[in-house]
Amino acid sequence: VEQLVIEEEFDAAGVTRPQLGITAWNILTIIQYGTQDQLDRWVMPAMRRDVIWCQLFSEPDAGSDAAGIKTKGTRVDGGWLVNGQKVWTSGAHYAGMGFATVRTNPDVPKHEGITMMAIDMTAEGVEVRPLKMATGNSEFNEVFFNDVFVPDDDVVGPVDGGWTVARATLGNESVSIGGGTARTAVPQQKLVESFDADPARLDGGAARLGRHLADIQAIGLLNLRSAHRAVAGGEPGPEGAMTKLVLSEIGHESTAINTELAGPDSVYLAGAGQMSGFMVLTHRGMSIAGGTSEIKRNQIGERILGLPRDPLIK
Ligand SMILES: Cc1cc2nc3c(=O)[nH]c(=O)nc-3n(C[C@H](O)[C@H](O)[C@H](O)COP(=O)(O)OP(=O)(O)OC[C@H]3O[C@@H](n4cnc5c(N)ncnc54)[C@H](O)[C@@H]3O)c2cc1C
Repeated sequence: VEQLVIEEEFDAAGVTRPQLGITAWNILTIIQYGTQDQLDRWVMPAMRRDVIWCQLFSEPDAGSDAAGIKTKGTRVDGGWLVNGQKVWTSGAHYAGMGFATVRTNPDVPKHEGITMMAIDMTAEGVEVRPLKMATGNSEFNEVFFNDVFVPDDDVVGPVDGGWTVARATLGNESVSIGGGTARTAVPQQKLVESFDADPARLDGGAARLGRHLADIQAIGLLNLRSAHRAVAGGEPGPEGAMTKLVLSEIGHESTAINTELAGPDSVYLAGAGQMSGFMVLTHRGMSIAGGTSEIKRNQIGERILGLPRDPLIK
Protein backbone atom coordinates (compact mmCIF):
# COMPACT_ATOMS: atom_id res chain seq x y z
CA VAL A 1 0.00 0.00 0.00
CA GLU A 2 2.88 2.30 0.84
CA GLN A 3 4.25 1.77 -2.68
CA LEU A 4 0.86 2.66 -4.23
CA VAL A 5 0.66 5.85 -2.17
CA ILE A 6 4.19 6.80 -3.26
CA GLU A 7 3.23 6.19 -6.92
CA GLU A 8 0.11 8.37 -6.59
CA GLU A 9 2.05 11.15 -4.90
CA PHE A 10 4.68 11.06 -7.68
CA ASP A 11 1.88 11.32 -10.26
CA ALA A 12 0.16 14.17 -8.40
CA ALA A 13 3.44 16.08 -8.19
CA GLY A 14 4.08 15.54 -11.90
CA VAL A 15 7.29 13.57 -11.27
CA THR A 16 8.08 11.47 -14.32
CA ARG A 17 9.82 8.19 -13.65
CA PRO A 18 11.88 6.19 -16.18
CA GLN A 19 9.63 4.15 -18.47
CA LEU A 20 11.24 0.77 -19.05
CA GLY A 21 8.52 -0.44 -21.44
CA ILE A 22 9.04 -3.97 -22.73
CA THR A 23 12.20 -4.32 -20.64
CA ALA A 24 10.09 -3.91 -17.48
CA TRP A 25 7.79 -6.89 -17.91
CA ASN A 26 10.48 -9.17 -19.35
CA ILE A 27 12.81 -8.41 -16.44
CA LEU A 28 9.91 -8.84 -14.00
CA THR A 29 9.37 -12.35 -15.38
CA ILE A 30 13.09 -13.09 -15.16
CA ILE A 31 13.02 -11.96 -11.51
CA GLN A 32 10.14 -14.41 -10.98
CA TYR A 33 11.73 -17.38 -12.79
CA GLY A 34 15.48 -16.72 -13.23
CA THR A 35 18.45 -18.03 -11.25
CA GLN A 36 20.35 -15.81 -8.81
CA ASP A 37 23.22 -15.65 -11.32
CA GLN A 38 20.82 -14.39 -14.02
CA LEU A 39 19.36 -11.78 -11.68
CA ASP A 40 22.87 -10.61 -10.78
CA ARG A 41 23.83 -10.27 -14.44
CA TRP A 42 20.65 -8.78 -15.94
CA VAL A 43 18.46 -6.88 -13.48
CA MET A 44 20.54 -3.82 -12.57
CA PRO A 45 21.74 -3.06 -16.14
CA ALA A 46 18.08 -3.26 -17.23
CA MET A 47 16.84 -1.02 -14.41
CA ARG A 48 19.52 1.55 -15.27
CA ARG A 49 18.50 1.30 -18.96
CA ASP A 50 22.07 0.32 -19.84
CA VAL A 51 20.60 -2.76 -21.54
CA ILE A 52 17.20 -2.67 -23.26
CA TRP A 53 15.30 -5.95 -23.71
CA CYS A 54 12.99 -6.98 -26.53
CA GLN A 55 10.38 -9.75 -26.56
CA LEU A 56 10.95 -12.44 -29.18
CA PHE A 57 7.63 -14.32 -29.17
CA SER A 58 5.63 -13.69 -32.36
CA GLU A 59 6.51 -15.52 -35.56
CA PRO A 60 4.97 -15.46 -39.04
CA ASP A 61 2.72 -18.42 -38.08
CA ALA A 62 2.50 -17.89 -34.33
CA GLY A 63 0.89 -14.72 -32.99
CA SER A 64 -2.30 -15.26 -30.98
CA ASP A 65 -1.29 -18.91 -30.88
CA ALA A 66 1.99 -18.04 -29.16
CA ALA A 67 2.75 -21.71 -28.46
CA GLY A 68 2.76 -22.50 -32.19
CA ILE A 69 6.36 -21.31 -32.60
CA LYS A 70 8.81 -22.99 -34.96
CA THR A 71 12.08 -21.28 -33.97
CA LYS A 72 14.05 -24.25 -32.76
CA GLY A 73 16.89 -24.92 -30.37
CA THR A 74 19.26 -27.83 -31.01
CA ARG A 75 21.31 -29.23 -28.14
CA VAL A 76 25.08 -28.66 -28.47
CA ASP A 77 27.94 -28.81 -26.00
CA GLY A 78 27.30 -26.20 -23.27
CA GLY A 79 24.09 -24.81 -24.69
CA TRP A 80 21.82 -24.52 -27.72
CA LEU A 81 22.03 -23.52 -31.37
CA VAL A 82 18.97 -21.44 -32.25
CA ASN A 83 17.54 -21.17 -35.77
CA GLY A 84 14.34 -19.53 -36.98
CA GLN A 85 12.48 -16.25 -37.38
CA LYS A 86 10.55 -13.87 -35.15
CA VAL A 87 8.44 -10.93 -36.35
CA TRP A 88 6.89 -7.70 -35.01
CA THR A 89 9.70 -7.55 -32.44
CA SER A 90 9.41 -4.04 -31.01
CA GLY A 91 12.72 -2.35 -30.32
CA ALA A 92 14.89 -5.24 -31.55
CA HIS A 93 16.93 -2.71 -33.52
CA TYR A 94 18.19 -1.09 -30.30
CA ALA A 95 17.81 -3.94 -27.79
CA GLY A 96 20.90 -5.52 -26.24
CA MET A 97 19.03 -8.64 -25.08
CA GLY A 98 15.92 -10.51 -26.20
CA PHE A 99 13.66 -12.90 -24.29
CA ALA A 100 12.68 -15.68 -26.69
CA THR A 101 10.34 -18.64 -26.92
CA VAL A 102 12.27 -21.51 -28.53
CA ARG A 103 11.03 -24.98 -29.48
CA THR A 104 13.40 -27.49 -27.91
CA ASN A 105 11.25 -30.61 -28.25
CA PRO A 106 9.11 -31.03 -31.38
CA ASP A 107 7.89 -34.51 -30.35
CA VAL A 108 5.57 -33.50 -27.49
CA PRO A 109 2.34 -31.42 -27.41
CA LYS A 110 3.24 -27.87 -28.43
CA HIS A 111 2.94 -26.30 -24.97
CA GLU A 112 5.35 -28.85 -23.49
CA GLY A 113 8.33 -28.46 -25.83
CA ILE A 114 9.15 -24.76 -25.37
CA THR A 115 12.16 -23.30 -23.55
CA MET A 116 12.69 -19.63 -22.67
CA MET A 117 16.09 -18.24 -23.62
CA ALA A 118 17.73 -14.87 -23.12
CA ILE A 119 19.45 -14.08 -26.40
CA ASP A 120 22.32 -11.63 -26.80
CA MET A 121 21.10 -9.48 -29.71
CA THR A 122 24.69 -8.73 -30.69
CA ALA A 123 25.61 -12.43 -30.94
CA GLU A 124 26.84 -13.86 -34.21
CA GLY A 125 23.94 -15.10 -36.33
CA VAL A 126 21.31 -12.59 -35.09
CA GLU A 127 19.97 -10.47 -37.96
CA VAL A 128 17.49 -7.63 -37.33
CA ARG A 129 15.50 -6.17 -40.23
CA PRO A 130 13.36 -3.11 -39.34
CA LEU A 131 9.78 -2.98 -40.71
CA LYS A 132 8.41 0.37 -41.88
CA MET A 133 5.11 1.48 -40.32
CA ALA A 134 2.37 3.77 -41.69
CA THR A 135 4.01 6.73 -39.92
CA GLY A 136 7.22 6.14 -41.87
CA ASN A 137 9.02 5.14 -38.65
CA SER A 138 10.34 1.69 -37.81
CA GLU A 139 9.32 0.53 -34.34
CA PHE A 140 9.27 -3.20 -34.89
CA ASN A 141 11.36 -5.71 -36.79
CA GLU A 142 11.86 -9.10 -38.29
CA VAL A 143 14.56 -11.02 -36.41
CA PHE A 144 16.38 -13.98 -37.93
CA PHE A 145 18.48 -16.51 -36.02
CA ASN A 146 21.11 -18.42 -37.95
CA ASP A 147 22.95 -20.89 -35.69
CA VAL A 148 22.92 -18.48 -32.73
CA PHE A 149 24.68 -20.05 -29.73
CA VAL A 150 22.82 -19.63 -26.41
CA PRO A 151 24.71 -20.94 -23.35
CA ASP A 152 22.88 -23.11 -20.81
CA ASP A 153 23.33 -20.30 -18.28
CA ASP A 154 20.99 -18.13 -20.36
CA VAL A 155 18.05 -20.55 -20.30
CA VAL A 156 15.35 -19.09 -18.03
CA GLY A 157 13.23 -21.67 -16.21
CA PRO A 158 13.14 -25.38 -17.02
CA VAL A 159 14.11 -26.83 -20.41
CA ASP A 160 10.85 -27.77 -22.21
CA GLY A 161 8.94 -26.12 -19.35
CA GLY A 162 9.10 -22.59 -20.73
CA TRP A 163 5.40 -22.19 -21.52
CA THR A 164 4.66 -21.28 -17.89
CA VAL A 165 7.36 -18.61 -18.09
CA ALA A 166 6.07 -17.37 -21.46
CA ARG A 167 2.52 -17.14 -20.08
CA ALA A 168 3.77 -15.19 -17.09
CA THR A 169 5.53 -12.78 -19.48
CA LEU A 170 2.32 -12.31 -21.48
CA GLY A 171 0.36 -11.78 -18.24
CA ASN A 172 2.87 -9.22 -17.00
CA GLU A 173 2.69 -7.56 -20.43
CA SER A 174 -1.10 -7.24 -20.27
CA VAL A 175 -0.96 -5.76 -16.79
CA SER A 176 1.78 -3.31 -17.84
CA ILE A 177 0.05 -2.20 -21.05
CA GLY A 178 -3.32 -1.96 -19.28
CA GLY A 179 -1.69 0.16 -16.59
CA GLY A 180 -0.38 2.64 -19.10
CA THR A 181 -3.37 4.95 -19.52
CA ALA A 182 -1.33 8.04 -18.90
CA ARG A 183 1.12 7.14 -21.62
CA THR A 184 -1.14 5.80 -24.37
CA ALA A 185 -4.21 8.04 -24.18
CA VAL A 186 -4.13 11.74 -24.98
CA PRO A 187 -3.54 13.69 -21.73
CA GLN A 188 -6.92 14.49 -20.17
CA GLN A 189 -6.06 18.13 -19.66
CA LYS A 190 -5.22 18.54 -23.35
CA LEU A 191 -8.60 17.08 -24.35
CA VAL A 192 -10.45 19.44 -22.00
CA GLU A 193 -8.49 22.46 -23.25
CA SER A 194 -9.10 21.57 -26.91
CA PHE A 195 -12.80 21.03 -26.18
CA ASP A 196 -13.12 24.36 -24.36
CA ALA A 197 -11.44 26.11 -27.30
CA ASP A 198 -14.08 24.87 -29.78
CA PRO A 199 -16.85 22.68 -28.23
CA ALA A 200 -18.85 22.57 -31.47
CA ARG A 201 -16.19 20.40 -33.08
CA LEU A 202 -16.91 17.38 -30.89
CA ASP A 203 -19.80 15.16 -31.92
CA GLY A 204 -21.54 14.23 -28.65
CA GLY A 205 -20.21 17.31 -26.89
CA ALA A 206 -19.45 17.56 -23.18
CA ALA A 207 -21.39 14.37 -22.36
CA ARG A 208 -19.09 12.30 -24.59
CA LEU A 209 -15.95 13.90 -23.21
CA GLY A 210 -17.24 13.44 -19.65
CA ARG A 211 -17.97 9.74 -20.27
CA HIS A 212 -14.48 9.29 -21.66
CA LEU A 213 -12.84 10.96 -18.65
CA ALA A 214 -14.95 8.78 -16.33
CA ASP A 215 -13.76 5.67 -18.22
CA ILE A 216 -10.16 6.75 -17.61
CA GLN A 217 -10.88 7.03 -13.87
CA ALA A 218 -12.51 3.58 -13.91
CA ILE A 219 -9.52 1.88 -15.51
CA GLY A 220 -7.33 3.59 -12.93
CA LEU A 221 -9.28 1.76 -10.21
CA LEU A 222 -8.98 -1.58 -12.03
CA ASN A 223 -5.25 -1.00 -12.24
CA LEU A 224 -5.06 -0.36 -8.52
CA ARG A 225 -6.36 -3.90 -8.04
CA SER A 226 -3.62 -5.32 -10.32
CA ALA A 227 -0.97 -3.19 -8.65
CA HIS A 228 -2.15 -4.32 -5.23
CA ARG A 229 -1.81 -7.95 -6.32
CA ALA A 230 1.68 -7.29 -7.75
CA VAL A 231 2.82 -5.47 -4.60
CA ALA A 232 1.56 -8.45 -2.57
CA GLY A 233 3.84 -10.64 -4.71
CA GLY A 234 1.06 -12.45 -6.61
CA GLU A 235 1.02 -13.66 -10.22
CA PRO A 236 -0.69 -11.44 -12.80
CA GLY A 237 -4.44 -11.98 -12.46
CA PRO A 238 -7.14 -12.21 -15.12
CA GLU A 239 -8.01 -8.54 -14.65
CA GLY A 240 -4.92 -7.83 -16.79
CA ALA A 241 -6.97 -9.04 -19.79
CA MET A 242 -9.69 -6.53 -18.87
CA THR A 243 -7.38 -3.57 -18.37
CA LYS A 244 -5.48 -4.32 -21.59
CA LEU A 245 -8.73 -4.57 -23.58
CA VAL A 246 -10.30 -1.49 -21.99
CA LEU A 247 -7.08 0.50 -22.29
CA SER A 248 -7.02 -0.12 -26.07
CA GLU A 249 -10.64 0.96 -26.41
CA ILE A 250 -10.13 4.05 -24.26
CA GLY A 251 -7.14 4.94 -26.40
CA HIS A 252 -9.20 4.57 -29.59
CA GLU A 253 -11.87 6.90 -28.18
CA SER A 254 -9.18 9.29 -26.98
CA THR A 255 -7.74 9.30 -30.49
CA ALA A 256 -11.18 9.83 -32.06
CA ILE A 257 -12.03 12.74 -29.73
CA ASN A 258 -8.63 14.34 -30.20
CA THR A 259 -8.92 13.99 -33.98
CA GLU A 260 -12.35 15.62 -34.09
CA LEU A 261 -11.13 18.47 -31.90
CA ALA A 262 -7.97 18.96 -33.98
CA GLY A 263 -10.07 19.08 -37.16
CA PRO A 264 -8.33 19.09 -40.55
CA ASP A 265 -4.89 19.57 -38.92
CA SER A 266 -5.04 15.85 -38.04
CA VAL A 267 -3.99 14.82 -41.52
CA TYR A 268 -0.49 16.19 -40.89
CA LEU A 269 2.21 14.54 -38.81
CA ALA A 270 3.54 17.97 -37.83
CA GLY A 271 2.03 21.15 -36.43
CA ALA A 272 -1.16 21.49 -34.35
CA GLY A 273 -2.59 18.11 -35.34
CA GLN A 274 0.67 16.20 -34.91
CA MET A 275 -0.45 14.12 -31.94
CA SER A 276 -3.85 13.20 -33.38
CA GLY A 277 -2.36 12.48 -36.82
CA PHE A 278 0.21 10.19 -35.27
CA MET A 279 -2.34 8.42 -33.07
CA VAL A 280 -4.73 7.83 -35.98
CA LEU A 281 -1.94 5.94 -37.73
CA THR A 282 -0.66 4.00 -34.73
CA HIS A 283 -3.34 3.49 -32.11
CA ARG A 284 -5.29 0.70 -33.82
CA GLY A 285 -2.17 -1.40 -33.29
CA MET A 286 -2.90 -1.34 -29.55
CA SER A 287 -5.81 -3.73 -30.20
CA ILE A 288 -3.24 -6.20 -31.58
CA ALA A 289 -0.04 -5.71 -29.56
CA GLY A 290 0.15 -7.67 -26.32
CA GLY A 291 -2.70 -9.98 -27.36
CA THR A 292 -5.57 -8.97 -29.65
CA SER A 293 -8.90 -7.70 -28.34
CA GLU A 294 -10.58 -10.93 -29.52
CA ILE A 295 -8.11 -13.01 -27.50
CA LYS A 296 -8.56 -10.77 -24.46
CA ARG A 297 -12.35 -11.23 -24.74
CA ASN A 298 -11.81 -15.00 -24.89
CA GLN A 299 -9.66 -14.83 -21.74
CA ILE A 300 -12.23 -12.70 -19.91
CA GLY A 301 -14.98 -15.13 -20.95
CA GLU A 302 -13.06 -18.21 -19.87
CA ARG A 303 -11.12 -17.06 -16.81
CA ILE A 304 -13.45 -14.49 -15.27
CA LEU A 305 -16.95 -15.39 -16.49
CA GLY A 306 -16.33 -19.16 -16.41
CA LEU A 307 -17.54 -19.75 -19.97
CA PRO A 308 -16.45 -22.93 -21.83
CA ARG A 309 -13.02 -22.90 -23.49
CA ASP A 310 -12.68 -21.87 -27.14
CA PRO A 311 -13.32 -25.24 -28.90
CA LEU A 312 -10.99 -24.30 -31.78
CA ILE A 313 -7.92 -23.94 -29.51
CA LYS A 314 -5.74 -27.04 -29.53
C1 LIG B 1 2.44 -2.39 -32.24
C2 LIG B 1 2.77 -3.86 -32.10
C3 LIG B 1 3.89 -4.25 -31.39
C4 LIG B 1 4.20 -5.61 -31.25
N1 LIG B 1 5.33 -5.95 -30.57
C5 LIG B 1 5.65 -7.26 -30.42
C6 LIG B 1 6.85 -7.64 -29.73
O1 LIG B 1 7.62 -6.80 -29.25
N2 LIG B 1 7.14 -8.96 -29.62
C7 LIG B 1 6.32 -9.93 -30.12
O2 LIG B 1 6.63 -11.11 -29.96
N3 LIG B 1 5.18 -9.61 -30.81
C8 LIG B 1 4.84 -8.29 -30.96
N4 LIG B 1 3.70 -7.94 -31.65
C9 LIG B 1 2.91 -9.00 -32.29
C10 LIG B 1 1.60 -9.30 -31.58
O3 LIG B 1 1.83 -9.97 -30.36
C11 LIG B 1 0.78 -10.16 -32.54
O4 LIG B 1 0.52 -9.37 -33.69
C12 LIG B 1 -0.53 -10.59 -31.91
O5 LIG B 1 -0.30 -11.54 -30.90
C13 LIG B 1 -1.49 -11.20 -32.96
O6 LIG B 1 -0.85 -12.17 -33.70
P1 LIG B 1 -0.93 -12.16 -35.31
O7 LIG B 1 -0.54 -10.79 -35.77
O8 LIG B 1 -0.14 -13.31 -35.79
O9 LIG B 1 -2.46 -12.33 -35.66
P2 LIG B 1 -3.28 -13.70 -35.67
O10 LIG B 1 -3.00 -14.46 -34.42
O11 LIG B 1 -3.02 -14.40 -36.96
O12 LIG B 1 -4.76 -13.18 -35.61
C14 LIG B 1 -5.44 -12.67 -36.76
C15 LIG B 1 -6.85 -12.31 -36.35
O13 LIG B 1 -7.55 -13.48 -35.88
C16 LIG B 1 -8.05 -13.29 -34.56
N5 LIG B 1 -7.93 -14.54 -33.79
C17 LIG B 1 -6.85 -15.37 -33.75
N6 LIG B 1 -7.11 -16.42 -32.93
C18 LIG B 1 -8.37 -16.24 -32.44
C19 LIG B 1 -9.21 -16.97 -31.53
N7 LIG B 1 -8.78 -18.09 -30.96
N8 LIG B 1 -10.44 -16.47 -31.25
C20 LIG B 1 -10.88 -15.31 -31.83
N9 LIG B 1 -10.14 -14.58 -32.70
C21 LIG B 1 -8.90 -15.03 -33.00
C22 LIG B 1 -7.16 -12.20 -33.96
O14 LIG B 1 -7.82 -11.51 -32.92
C23 LIG B 1 -6.89 -11.32 -35.17
O15 LIG B 1 -7.96 -10.42 -35.36
C24 LIG B 1 3.36 -6.59 -31.81
C25 LIG B 1 2.22 -6.20 -32.53
C26 LIG B 1 1.93 -4.85 -32.68
C27 LIG B 1 0.70 -4.46 -33.45
